[in-house]
Amino acid sequence: MTKTDHTDKASTASPNFEIEYFDALIVGAGGAGMRAALQLVEDGHSIAMVSKVFPTRSHTVAAQGGINAALGNVTPDKWQWHMYDTIKGSDYLGDQEAIEFLCQEASEIVRELEHFGVPFSRLENGKIYQRAFGGQSQNYGEAQAHRTCAAADRTGHAILHSLYQQNIRLGTTLFDEYYALDLLNTEHGEIGGLLVMNIHDGAYKILQSPHILLATGGAGQVFRNNTNASINTGDGLGMVLRAGLPLQDMEFWQFHPTGVAGKGMLISEAVRGEGGKLVNSLGEAFMARYAPHVKDLASRDVVARAIALEVKAGRGCGKNKDYVLLDIRHIPEKVIAERLPGIRDISQTFLGIDPAKEPIHVFPTCHYMMGGIPTNLEGQVITQPPNGSPSIVKGLYAIGECACVSVHGANRLGGNSLLDIVVFGRRSAKFINIQLNKEKQQDIYNYKQLTLNTETVQKRIQRWQETEINQTITDDSVIQIKKDLQAIMEVGCGVFRDPESMQTALEALTKIQQRLETVCIRDQSHIFNLERMAAYELENLLAISWATLTSALARKESRGAHSRIDFTERDDQAWLKHSLYFQTEHRLDYKAVNLAPKHHEPLVPKPRVY
Ligand SMILES: Cc1cc2nc3c(=O)[nH]c(=O)nc-3n(C[C@H](O)[C@H](O)[C@H](O)COP(=O)(O)OP(=O)(O)OC[C@H]3O[C@@H](n4cnc5c(N)ncnc54)[C@H](O)[C@@H]3O)c2cc1C
Repeated sequence: MTKTDHTDKASTASPNFEIEYFDALIVGAGGAGMRAALQLVEDGHSIAMVSKVFPTRSHTVAAQGGINAALGNVTPDKWQWHMYDTIKGSDYLGDQEAIEFLCQEASEIVRELEHFGVPFSRLENGKIYQRAFGGQSQNYGEAQAHRTCAAADRTGHAILHSLYQQNIRLGTTLFDEYYALDLLNTEHGEIGGLLVMNIHDGAYKILQSPHILLATGGAGQVFRNNTNASINTGDGLGMVLRAGLPLQDMEFWQFHPTGVAGKGMLISEAVRGEGGKLVNSLGEAFMARYAPHVKDLASRDVVARAIALEVKAGRGCGKNKDYVLLDIRHIPEKVIAERLPGIRDISQTFLGIDPAKEPIHVFPTCHYMMGGIPTNLEGQVITQPPNGSPSIVKGLYAIGECACVSVHGANRLGGNSLLDIVVFGRRSAKFINIQLNKEKQQDIYNYKQLTLNTETVQKRIQRWQETEINQTITDDSVIQIKKDLQAIMEVGCGVFRDPESMQTALEALTKIQQRLETVCIRDQSHIFNLERMAAYELENLLAISWATLTSALARKESRGAHSRIDFTERDDQAWLKHSLYFQTEHRLDYKAVNLAPKHHEPLVPKPRVY
């Protein structure tokens, strides 16, 4: 941790924990958290950024293909076309005002990243290289666009490292390898602090602030096969649920069409953008059957379903006929070496093949969470009381993959998440800056006097300490429960969903819950408390699984990534609305979709064909 002068060990507010005070707290040091931190430090505020891993190990580092902006360096482009593609890609569930803002800001934010030091690949004329990605079009669907700005196939690595270096330059206070457990309420019932654990020695402390920004990333670990790092356990979502707040659109999970078969690691859409073709066991380039116009560059949900259907129809490859092939042998080796070096590495490491000589074995794998913590465009968290209308939760914000400002709706387009994290990371931080300046000027900056309620979180800490003291060793373990949960979710709520499987999965969650209540953690050493952290993470994964299955069972239509075999059509009349899930009694509520952009005609839902 970088040294700070904010400590107040003698505070009487919450005597059991050391307390540190900051103007704003950012939980998460991925692209979203880093961009927000940069803004707030530049604006002169004292902030702390907490991360459970060293910042440059945050999952943004793994992003491969690129970031979208209508720069028009390769094909003519406009932000309005980008907006149209994103709304169509979202299967019309995306909020149009947020999408409009995302696309309008994109070109400027990519140039800003370039100035921060991101080494984008270049065209012969020196401009930023842009590749074709699925669902991108020129002139509202007429021809394929090239909109994805790339640094080879390691764009996330380039962005995260550049943002990190900028934060180091400005001296951002970092708590790395600290695990955030829960939000804390002030005596007035408002969010005002955060309990964190130093992973090295297991010591707990409070970070107190009037503005807490969650940027904790995705939760792909809910499913067995996924492209996500083991740290992607949706901790921010768990915190929000435990605080009595809702999660939005949790039925919408993106299954990326091209994961390494049987293993899950990502083979980027960049491969199809550079000309890669999907082929079945008969040697057919089968995407022509499912998306006659754009074929392999259809939207991800469409391609994932096509692969699953090919396998189901017996046209899969290999001894078990359970994958298809992604063929890039026709792409010149020079192009593979320059633009897809990471993909070549992954194929060689995990499949033992060189994709320049042999096709890659692929099958859909869980990749991205479209749902998350509901927010407005400023990143302010939104809640909704029973039979009430949406309202803002004071002092709490969310950005990046953990948030649902709803720019992705029911299906995200490739290249739009890196854009989302920096655009809304910056916007939310600018908003917090304005709030802080007002508070400081009006002299209402007295949050240090507020007492925080730690009762609930103390119980949670005790839960995992008591098991150590009264340990009864059973065969069960946190790791085994996690594996079983992931398998349940994969069978119960995968690419295609049927009500019986979802219901069975939901019932199985009760048994997982019971096992979690009795399991013991065995690591009593307090040296790198990984098992304790895994227990906290599992609580979050389970909470998110409930949210996912409850929301998915209720939504009786097929839209974007939510494909039901019993309700195969989109139903705008009944279901053009966001789901809100609350943990208490697994309550569901609904919220209107924003169909009112500010500078463009609203886009009216139409049948979605590629
Ligand atoms: C393999 C892969 C490739 C991708 N490629 C692309 C691409 O080419 N283009 C694109 O647009 N999108 C891509 N995506 C999606 C995109 O990379 C992510 O959605 C995005 O980077 C998420 O950024 P984030 O800042 O929200 O979260 P992350 O980068 O995941 O960061 C989360 C942060 O939260 C911290 N954290 C979490 N929980 C806690 C806790 N309890 N306590 C303390 N800290 C915590 C973590 O330590 C981390 O610092 C890809 C995703 C994957 C998995």
